Amino acid sequence: MRYIFIGASAACVSAAHTLAKHDPQAELLILTQQREYPNNTCSIKHVLAGVWPKEQTFLKLPAHAQLYLQQRVVEIDPDQKMVVTHNGQVFGYDTIIIGIGTRPRVPELFKTYLHKGVFTYHTLDDVEDITKYSASTNITSVAIIGGGLSGVEAAFACRQRGLEVTLFEKEPKILSLESEDIQKNLEDTLNGAAIKMICSSKVITCTRDTNEFVLTLDTRVVRVDMVLLALGSSPDSQFLNSVTEMTFDGYILRVRPEYELHCKVVGDCTAQPRVHNGWSRALMAGKKILT
Ligand SMILES: Cc1cc2nc3c(=O)[nH]c(=O)nc-3n(C[C@H](O)[C@H](O)[C@H](O)COP(=O)(O)OP(=O)(O)OC[C@H]3O[C@@H](n4cnc5c(N)ncnc54)[C@H](O)[C@@H]3O)c2cc1C
Repeated sequence: MRYIFIGASAACVSAAHTLAKHDPQAELLILTQQREYPNNTCSIKHVLAGVWPKEQTFLKLPAHAQLYLQQRVVEIDPDQKMVVTHNGQVFGYDTIIIGIGTRPRVPELFKTYLHKGVFTYHTLDDVEDITKYSASTNITSVAIIGGGLSGVEAAFACRQRGLEVTLFEKEPKILSLESEDIQKNLEDTLNGAAIKMICSSKVITCTRDTNEFVLTLDTRVVRVDMVLLALGSSPDSQFLNSVTEMTFDGYILRVRPEYELHCKVVGDCTAQPRVHNGWSRALMAGKKILT
């Protein structure tokens, strides 16, 4: 039996362990678009802060799993039971496990400078890109766009790195979905860490002036050396049309009935309420892959 996993994070790695236990002879092929070894996203903040080596975040894979890094799956042929990757490699399967998670949003105004001083904060690949860029240029200040959990996490990590940090949130408060108590507590902690906050104001343009980024807001202009985007995410799932039905914004509702026997979907890419403990929920979904 050959299982192909599309994705190499909480959901797929946990499913791979379950299937390895259930069927020790099974072939387990893990395909992922990422460059870095499979890792725990909850810990990448420590790498961004410069206090952990990236290896400390690495996940343990089943001993005989075959890992294919930098293989973005772009097509699935469920009738032929084949997947095709961006560089034209074709893999046959008996069963596929889809755990593609979500991809961070990048508004149009930031796209020109993406990977050239503007980065998303979502994966260990991103953290590696941010770290390399910071080392190659003289970065002292950073703007974090988005005051949700990821943005706040990035803000603390960058501060720990010694950077001057400004956190931007278009709503009146950081963590706009949380209770007032939590918001107040967090604001005090951010103030205590000397992290500047600019709320109720949207970044309208992002341009470059020699080595600085110039961000214009409704009423002011802010200049920084680097910009990190933490603006939420949604699945990049168009290529799954042949096997699944999905919501308008790409979350997977179900596998098409005719392919249910040979295709499972797990983790953040599925349509379910958004939660803070996504990692443990994705782990659990992978663990229960056989039920
Ligand atoms: C910065 C950050 C911090 C977080 N901190 C916490 C926390 O403290 N606690 C918590 O519970 N949750 C946290 N989360 C949420 C948690 O990381 C997710 O809920 C969890 O990772 C979901 O796991 P997943 O396996 O479903 O998807 P992901 O972890 O998103 O993994 C998706 C995988 O699919 C691969 N992939 C995507 N598309 C393709 C393709 N076309 N072809 C091949 N491979 C593909 C990706 O490379 C990746 O390997 C955090 C998330 C972020 C971004």
